[in-house]
Amino acid sequence: MTKKFYVTTPIYYINDIPHIGHTCTTVAADILARLHRQLGEEVFFLTGTDEHGQKVAECAVKEGLEPQAYCDKIAPTFIEAWKNINISNDFFIRTTDSRHIAVVQELLQKIYDAGDAYKAKYEGYYCIGCESFKTETDLVEGHCPLHPPEKTVKKSEENWFFKLSKYVPQLIEKIENDNYIFPEGKRSEILAKLKAGVNDISLSRENVEWGIPVPWDKSQTFYVWFDALINYYSATRFLEGKADFWPADLHLLGKEILWFHTVIWQAMLLSANIALPKKTFTHSFYMIDGQKMSKSLGNVISPKQLTDLFEVDGARYLIARSFPSENDSDVGIVRFKEKYNADLANNLGNLVSRVAKLGAGIKSIKISEPKLGEEYVKLIDNLKLDEAIGWVFENYIDKSNNRLNEIAPWKLAADDPKRTEVLQECANNIRLAAFHLYPIMPDTCEKIESCLNEEIKPLETGLFPRIK
Ligand SMILES: [Zn+2]
Repeated sequence: MTKKFYVTTPIYYINDIPHIGHTCTTVAADILARLHRQLGEEVFFLTGTDEHGQKVAECAVKEGLEPQAYCDKIAPTFIEAWKNINISNDFFIRTTDSRHIAVVQELLQKIYDAGDAYKAKYEGYYCIGCESFKTETDLVEGHCPLHPPEKTVKKSEENWFFKLSKYVPQLIEKIENDNYIFPEGKRSEILAKLKAGVNDISLSRENVEWGIPVPWDKSQTFYVWFDALINYYSATRFLEGKADFWPADLHLLGKEILWFHTVIWQAMLLSANIALPKKTFTHSFYMIDGQKMSKSLGNVISPKQLTDLFEVDGARYLIARSFPSENDSDVGIVRFKEKYNADLANNLGNLVSRVAKLGAGIKSIKISEPKLGEEYVKLIDNLKLDEAIGWVFENYIDKSNNRLNEIAPWKLAADDPKRTEVLQECANNIRLAAFHLYPIMPDTCEKIESCLNEEIKPLETGLFPRIK
């Protein structure tokens, strides 16, 4: 039986435009999807957009559109952005899809039938920016630290609540014995929060029309988070042939949505008696030249900006190299240019064109069934993308550069066997590098493979032109 691998990105909230934060999660998921396809597994890679909630309704009003028309206008910007950076998702889910809506109602009905929903009055704070309820301890100087003060409002309304607290002991046990939260820092953070005590959470909203109706109480709509989280499951229900992909092997997340994915989502699934996802990985954020990325600072980097400057594979490489795996990653366009020139233009690109030119006409040695290095696969699976690339450079690229400099084949006669031998050896190592780097830079690696297999041929166009 073919092994299956189901990987998801969060679905992105539709009031935003794609930036480097969304891009790093999506590129990382794409790298994992491509790697697992390379390993011969059957892969399902899901991304999409989160389209309900008060904030979307407000944005639509500002643009003079109906909410659905607004979503239909914005969703393609994400679809296009991912196409432009060569993302190989198998499906793009939109939470306004009627098939998703049906699964949401069905799953939440199960939670109600299990006796895990009750009506109560909610009084407290709500951040419209986060679309989430806040406790006093979440607030800094009375408002959400992630959004301007006016986004935090005091609310008092009758809602349906989900018995989240009921599932806390089960979640603690699961995290302690069969952990699904990575990396380790996030696991201990969640455990500590769970052990400190957890309140039940509002499941529905009154007066928010732009949402999915609660089937047992048509006067309310589901709180957007409950609707959004279900996308990971709903796609495996309504898409033909995808049922077997549940439970997901990996949910990739940003740290701002850790709690929702590692606690609320898991508790919802426990209540509905559905298998839990096997693993969540929560990455950190990008800092731009030492500052938080924000619209008001005008330092937001878009994926388009990256592909315009570095082309698709250059952009993908830089994202992977700087991926904020455990800690925030400080990046900037100037440093991206330096890294691109150092690693891709001067090192890899230069090496490939030297070997292809010097070795033109030389037969390559056949590589019988290349295998991905175990250590490399492990590094990628653990989202240590920078280290994984470092591993490839060390094992194949640096080695080739050293051999070239040591033997200096350009000084040897054309018929000198030593010349042929070193160029064959380098060509082979470069092909192995390309084989490993394929999930990160698919087009470039295919190009490299085609000019070095069987017989070495010079490149038609250089790889990675230097950038000023
Ligand atoms: Zn907020």
